[in-house]
Amino acid sequence: MTQNFDAIVIGAGVIGASIAFHLTERGLKPAILERKVTASGATGHSSGLVRMHYDLAVESQLTFVSYKNYFADWKNRVGGECGFIKTGFMQIAKREHEDKLRGNVANQQKMGINTSVISAADVKKLFPDLTTEHFDVAAYEPDSGYADASMTTNSFLDSAKRQGATLIQNCEVTAIRVAGGKIVGVDTNKGEFSAPVVVNAAGPWAKQVAALAGVDVPLVTWTHDVAFLHRPPSLGKFPAVIDDTINCYFRPEGSALILAAGEDESMRGEEPDAEDQTPTETFLDKLIDAMVQRIPKIEESGLHSIHVGRDGITPDQRAIYSAAGPDGFYLACGLSGTGFKTAPAAGASMAELILDGAPKTVDISTFNFERFSKGELINGEFGYGHIWK
Ligand SMILES: Cc1cc2nc3c(=O)[nH]c(=O)nc-3n(C[C@H](O)[C@H](O)[C@H](O)COP(=O)(O)OP(=O)(O)OC[C@H]3O[C@@H](n4cnc5c(N)ncnc54)[C@H](O)[C@@H]3O)c2cc1C
Repeated sequence: MTQNFDAIVIGAGVIGASIAFHLTERGLKPAILERKVTASGATGHSSGLVRMHYDLAVESQLTFVSYKNYFADWKNRVGGECGFIKTGFMQIAKREHEDKLRGNVANQQKMGINTSVISAADVKKLFPDLTTEHFDVAAYEPDSGYADASMTTNSFLDSAKRQGATLIQNCEVTAIRVAGGKIVGVDTNKGEFSAPVVVNAAGPWAKQVAALAGVDVPLVTWTHDVAFLHRPPSLGKFPAVIDDTINCYFRPEGSALILAAGEDESMRGEEPDAEDQTPTETFLDKLIDAMVQRIPKIEESGLHSIHVGRDGITPDQRAIYSAAGPDGFYLACGLSGTGFKTAPAAGASMAELILDGAPKTVDISTFNFERFSKGELINGEFGYGHIWK
């Protein structure tokens, strides 16, 4: 027997959960169909950084809205927990990018974001255990930090369910049904579901899912290793940091661990279902060599564990939030290794696009699907080059 819903969201990662939550706030009763379990894709491996520094204004805006309206007030806004911890965030830029860093910070200040350019000497005063080699200035956001991507997703889903959504796990979408140019539903291993709206939020699998609706999305996978190191007891306070001079990012993970990852070793084009948990052979050595340049006390650290995550990445390394193909079909995919922190506001904006024909919370029209066929890839105003090398 076919089950009827107002909308179907394919994928229970953070963006599918956020979209479903926001659809229910507008009175819809959607189904979220998940081939495995919630947050089992990119989301469950996310490093969870919540920072507002981007080289593209609309991405800063998406995180700013996500931070102030959601992460900073999660219990009241969504319910449940997102695990947000305020550590501060610092973007360390290469010397040749100082003007760009200043341009981005000025844009972000105009939006009301609490950020400023600080000198290497200021960094030393704030965080004495960090070295200040290879850079003169950094962008510093005292309000930023990190959150728990699985908790974020599950509390979006719990609230969506309370508001009328249906979550079905171990339910793989195998076909998307279209009649007269319009979406009518999907087929799954658990039967048929009908709805006039289908949202493809299938993360690294989104290319394969879009193909079921006859839509060719230019998306490959991006595979990224992340290490958890024991925090040396003598190491003092430090914030979440993206350090372009050593191609690494790191942050505290609770009080006993450090999460750290490098950019050089990430792979493109693996099968979305490829074996997940094997880091590249040189990942750890390269990471530690880089990290000791910024935190010499890492020498006193030890390895706790490594995990490997995989996201979908587009040619301009920016998300796709757009209608595409048959009427009623939407893409919320290609989050390109950076889509956790923006998911609350992006989900609100997607729900507006679906229900009102245009987004209002944040103008996500920049992330339209047509940009690829038109050759109009997105570039940051003060771009640092690709987010991932
Ligand atoms: C290692 C790593 C670190 C990251 N660190 C950060 C960070 O610090 N900050 C940040 O903002 N972002 C970060 N990101 C990016 C961010 O986590 C991702 O962009 C985001 O989680 C993607 O969410 P998603 O919902 O699009 O995809 P996913 O979480 O992959 O969810 C897609 C879901 O769709 C399901 N699915 C697929 N096919 C089907 C089908 N046919 N039928 C039904 N269900 C299907 C999958 O099982 C999956 O659960 C990181 C990503 C990785 C991999």
